[in-house]
Amino acid sequence: MLSEEEQREQEREKRQEERKQERLQKQIERRRKLEERERKSVKRASVFELGMMIFVSNKIREVLEKSTEENAKFNEILAKSLVDLRKFTKKESKSLKKDVIKESKNNFEENKNGTLELIQEATKKKMNGSLAKHIAYVNPQKETAKRWKKYIKSNANTYAIGKDKLPVFFTKVVQEEVKNVVGGKSTIDDSCRKAISKLAYSGVKIVEYDTGVKRNVDVWVRQQMQYAEKESSQEINNKCAKDLGVTVFEFDAHANARPSHKKWQGKRYDTQGKLYPSLYELTHGEEKDYGCRHFAQPVWDIDMPYAYAKEQLKNIDTKPFTFQGKKYEGYEARQYQRELERNIRALKREVILLDNQGLSSTEAKIKLKHANAVYKAFSSEMGDRVHNDRLRIG
Ligand SMILES: [Zn+2]
Repeated sequence: MLSEEEQREQEREKRQEERKQERLQKQIERRRKLEERERKSVKRASVFELGMMIFVSNKIREVLEKSTEENAKFNEILAKSLVDLRKFTKKESKSLKKDVIKESKNNFEENKNGTLELIQEATKKKMNGSLAKHIAYVNPQKETAKRWKKYIKSNANTYAIGKDKLPVFFTKVVQEEVKNVVGGKSTIDDSCRKAISKLAYSGVKIVEYDTGVKRNVDVWVRQQMQYAEKESSQEINNKCAKDLGVTVFEFDAHANARPSHKKWQGKRYDTQGKLYPSLYELTHGEEKDYGCRHFAQPVWDIDMPYAYAKEQLKNIDTKPFTFQGKKYEGYEARQYQRELERNIRALKREVILLDNQGLSSTEAKIKLKHANAVYKAFSSEMGDRVHNDRLRIG
C-alpha cells in the first residue's frame, strides 16, 4: 500500500503529465492551422508564377517569329514586347497583391483570436474576463497590409528569372536566340524549348527591395506569412505576459531543425535573466533567422515541466538512414527532401509550358515520373509522408 503522501505525489505527476500532453497537442495543432492558413495564399502565388511564365514563354516565341521574318525591325519588336511584358506584370501583380492582402487579413484575425484563446485557457485563474485591455494596441492585420504593399511591387524589375531581372532575362534570351535562329544554328522550336527549360527551373523570383535577395514567389509568400504570424502571436503573448508579470518563456521544438537552432529549441529563457538565461544568451538572436518557425510561449506556471523532456529533444530528429548509397540525417535529410520537391515543381512547370507551346513534353514527363518515384522512396526512408501540397504548382 502506498502512503497518502506517495499517492498524492503520484496523482500530481499524473496531472502534470496530462497537462504536458495537452500542451504538446496544442503546439502541433497550432502548426497545423498555420499551414492550413498559408495554403490558399501560397496557391495564389503559384498561379501568378505559372501565369507569368506562360506569358513570357509565349512572348519569346512571338518575338522570335516576328523578328526572324522582319530582321531589320528587331529593336522595334523587342521594345514593343518589353512594353507588353511590363503591362502584363503590372496587371498580374496588382491582382496578386489584392488577393494576398485580403487572404492574409482573414488569416491574421484568425491567428489573433487563436492566440488569445490559448492565453485565456492557460491563464484562466489569473485573468479576469476580458483580454481586450491587454491587447488593445495589437493590430497585426494593419501591419500585414502595410507589409504586402511595401514588398509586392507591380514593377517588372521586382521579378527575376535566375540571376537576371525579368526585362533583362527576356532581352538576353531573345537577342541570343534570334541570332541562333537567323544563323541557322537553331530552330524556333529548339530556341523556345531552351528558354522554357530556363524558365521552369528558375521559376519567377521576387527581388526583395532592401536586401536584393531573390526568392521564388510562392516561397516568399509562405515565409512572409509565417514571419508575420509569428511576430504578431509573439507580440500578443509578450504583452499579456508582461501585464501578468510572467517573465519566463519556453521555445517549442520540431524535428530536423537547423543545427544552430537545435541547441536551444524546447528550452526556456527569462526576460529578466534570473531563473533562466536571457533570450539573447540562449539564442544569440537566432530565433529571428529567416524562415525560423520556433516560437516561444509564456510559461504561466513555473512549476510545469518542460513540454519536451531532454530525452525527447535528443531523439526528435529523423534517424540517420542511407539512400542510394548516401547517408542522410536530420536537417540534411529535410534539405534534400525540399530539393526533390523543388525539382518536381520545376518539371511540372516544364511539362505545362511545353504543352502550351505544342512542343513535345515526353522527355520531361519521363523525368517527372522518375522524380516522383525518387521523392516517394526518399520520404518513405525518412519516415515521412509525401507532401502533395508542396508539389503543387497552381
Ligand atoms: Zn528555428
